[in-house]
Amino acid sequence: MNPQSNLVDTHCHLADPKLRVDLEAILDRARTAGLRMMVAVGAIGSIECDRETVAIAERNADVYAAVGVHPHDAKDCDDERIAQLRDLAQSSRVVAIGESGLDFHYMHSPIEAQETALRRQLELAHEVNRPIVIHCRDAEARLAAIVREVGMPPRGGVIHCFTGDAAAAREFLAIGFYISFSGIVTFKSAATLREAVPVVPAERLLAETDAPYLAPEPYRGKVNEPAFIARTFDVLARLRNCDRDALAARIVANAARIFNLAPA
Ligand SMILES: [Zn+2]
Ligand SMILES: [Zn+2]
Repeated sequence: MNPQSNLVDTHCHLADPKLRVDLEAILDRARTAGLRMMVAVGAIGSIECDRETVAIAERNADVYAAVGVHPHDAKDCDDERIAQLRDLAQSSRVVAIGESGLDFHYMHSPIEAQETALRRQLELAHEVNRPIVIHCRDAEARLAAIVREVGMPPRGGVIHCFTGDAAAAREFLAIGFYISFSGIVTFKSAATLREAVPVVPAERLLAETDAPYLAPEPYRGKVNEPAFIARTFDVLARLRNCDRDALAARIVANAARIFNLAPA
């Protein structure tokens, strides 16, 4: 391991066609940039995306997998899909269920289907004893209500790519969630989001790229990849007024704890 390796990307879509075509080079650049672990998330489109994600994690000791149904695809979250996810979760490389959640901004699936898929994946996370990874867009109150009702999985949960304000962060923290910030914190327009960064206790803070989406400044508009996460760590450290290496060590430890990772 590179002794400078002190970063982690807790949420990237390595099976996405944009990344998969060049995956070996992308993983090489991530390692060179200091990433010691990545959590690759399936959950986009069909179960094949989850299967490919698990296969990538099985081939690479520093890549772990999350499997689930994105709220955009919630209308496809039937009994068969839950059974397929349950089977995939037999692999020790699968460290979380998700991303699940609610997206009332794009509304690609009806609200009722999104809420049902969220409940079922929370139940699956309880059953297979993994944390849940949550995608939440313009649906904070509803999301909090459903998680309170069904119960947080014993292994906990992550609000990925948090885009709310300080009040929403406090609400999610009170339920027990970790809060993960993406490259959006580097965007000029994200002043309200930046105000939420110091609200999160150091032991509940995570960072991610959500690659291939949401490349941070100064790469905005490019295909995002895990190597770009260094920029997000820089901005988080500045906003929290703390040492960047200490913050990175803290976030690696948090990722290892919530996802039960053995740092490579
Ligand atoms: Zn998402
Ligand atoms: Zn994602």
